[in-house]
Amino acid sequence: MADKSSDPVVVIGLGRFGSSLALELVRRGTEVLAIDNRPKIVQSLSGHITQIAVADSTDIEALRQLGVPDFYRAVVAIGSDIEASILTTSLLVELEIDDIWAKAVSRQHAQILSRIGATHVVQPEHDMGERVAHMVSGRMLDFLQVDPDFALVKTLAPRDFVGVPLGESGLRRKYGVTIVAVKAKGEEFTYASAETVLNYGDIIVVSGPTEKVERFAELP
Ligand code: ADP
Repeated sequence: MADKSSDPVVVIGLGRFGSSLALELVRRGTEVLAIDNRPKIVQSLSGHITQIAVADSTDIEALRQLGVPDFYRAVVAIGSDIEASILTTSLLVELEIDDIWAKAVSRQHAQILSRIGATHVVQPEHDMGERVAHMVSGRMLDFLQVDPDFALVKTLAPRDFVGVPLGESGLRRKYGVTIVAVKAKGEEFTYASAETVLNYGDIIVVSGPTEKVERFAELP
């Protein structure tokens, strides 16, 4: 199949992260096989998820019986039990699942998961902590690190850039960033162009190298 985006997904571990993920996948129309070894959590989610089972994901036979090897994509959402997270991930590699996403609770945990063959490793607590730090310490309304050195920031239009078309503001030359979208009070976001003129109170989305957008977002 060319487009894998709507393929069914196995979600292993239904703690706060795994259950939110599984429910959101279902909401978006993706079929989900959810697995957890705690009967109580499975019971509370049954009826909301396509297929849900109580099983120990460190048992390869249990995974085979549930048909896990037929899936293209799996998410290991076990965090606090690092041993179970590593074992489960290695079994998914052994079962030749093509696309394995794994949640890590520390940098070391993330490194191990990558080394044993997880295709994508996410660190939700760490990433969210960084994101909130940007909002708490500055004027940013939102911050998204899209690559190690590239970020998107939602912030208020700095006063020096109000009233001049963006194309004439010298924004890229002076700050090395691009304003990609603008939202005037009470309106929707629209794309920004060279002709866009910002007003006081406009909310903007700025993209560029992380340090540069951070510096730009500090402007009054
Ligand atoms: P969160 O921080 O997102 O709540 P946790 O690490 O606390 O994540 O939750 C992980 C979930 O994974 C728990 O519901 C737990 O029962 C489940 N789990 C842990 N080990 C296994 C295992 N070997 N097999 C299946 N599920 C497991």
